[in-house]
Amino acid sequence: MAKRALITGITGQDGSYLAELLLQQGYEVVGMIRRSSAPNTSRIEHILDRVTLKPADLLDQLSLLRLIEDVRPHEVYNLAAMSFVPASWDQPMLTGEFNSQGVTRMLDAVRRVDSSIRFYQASSSEMFGKVREVPQTELTPFYPRSPYGVSKVFAHYITVNYRESYNLFAVSGILFNHESPRRGLEFVTRKVTDGVARVKLGLADRLTIGNLDAHRDWGFAGDYVRAMWLMLQQSEPDDYVIATGVSHSVRELVEIAFSRAGLDWEKYVHVDPALLRPAEVDHLLGDARRVDGGRRPQASQLLGRREPRIDGLTRAACCRLDVSVLRI
Ligand code: NDP
Ligand code: GDP
Repeated sequence: MAKRALITGITGQDGSYLAELLLQQGYEVVGMIRRSSAPNTSRIEHILDRVTLKPADLLDQLSLLRLIEDVRPHEVYNLAAMSFVPASWDQPMLTGEFNSQGVTRMLDAVRRVDSSIRFYQASSSEMFGKVREVPQTELTPFYPRSPYGVSKVFAHYITVNYRESYNLFAVSGILFNHESPRRGLEFVTRKVTDGVARVKLGLADRLTIGNLDAHRDWGFAGDYVRAMWLMLQQSEPDDYVIATGVSHSVRELVEIAFSRAGLDWEKYVHVDPALLRPAEVDHLLGDARRVDGGRRPQASQLLGRREPRIDGLTRAACCRLDVSVLRI
């Protein structure tokens, strides 16, 4: 019998890659979507005939309970969230409702319907915030710097707590930034590649940006969803950092992206102080080589190779003539 997976956030970047992967693995894939007045399934258009979409909302406990009862999944991947850090300062309460209470609602629906359902929570390196050590591992204490980061810390601990309280197979994947041509345009990688393409095509004469000195450990989303899936295939539930182990600055990203188009970034990039954040996460660098005496699989092995890939930045800068602009 085919395994059945429920993906919340299937219309997002990660949801779309994960749905593709699970279909390849022979899963029956059900995606949770919230109501919208117009279709927003562009990222999964190519697989719409192979997935089932069901309505529910993280804000509505009953809808989640009904959904789990109806679908009876073997695995739940909880990817749905308000995922954009700056928006979390504008809407801190709603961010908590989605990203913290929404996770609690989902976990509770799972445990009430069938506690054998395996549960993946999309945790984030933003939880490390003002980092307590370099590099960050599963044992690094959290110090979030935004309402988004705070909301994800709650979600992480409620996942751990449900695992320990109710013996759920609940896993928290602490994923560092991961990008792709499907990333939302407001995130820095897509904003930069889109901006470069606009300048190159004569549609814009500048790119306005925020903090050039921030460093991120960027990976490729297609790799990271595989790690999510593998986390749920282990014999015991646990928490994993997934990262490349290499960090780059936004300045480097901008430099590489413009140079790929044969342009000198310094002529086009303008820093707008309004884009600086009230509290910044300056430098993220993950260590996915878990050291625990070899008792558990190392997170780097979850990525399907002994050494994590280190070409995250190149991949990020490589959405070079950005897909959205080329459609114009
Ligand atoms: P996206 O922003 O691309 O996707 C978010 C998804 O959540 C969308 O499908 C969105 O639906 C859905 N959603 C939001 N609110 C609700 C709600 N109230 N009810 C139901 N669905 C909702 O995010 P990503 O794919 O990039 O990220 C996936 C997860 O991983 C998120 O939880 C994110 O915080 C986390 N994460 C991401 C990282 C990254 O670098 N990408 C790093 C670490 C963690 P709609 O289409 O209707 O808006
Ligand atoms: P985040 O790490 O989840 O917040 O992902 P983002 O892609 O939104 O931001 C990554 C880093 O790029 C952060 O340190 C931002 O401050 C920095 N950054 C600099 N300029 C910009 C910009 O114009 N947009 C965004 N989104 N981030 C920017």
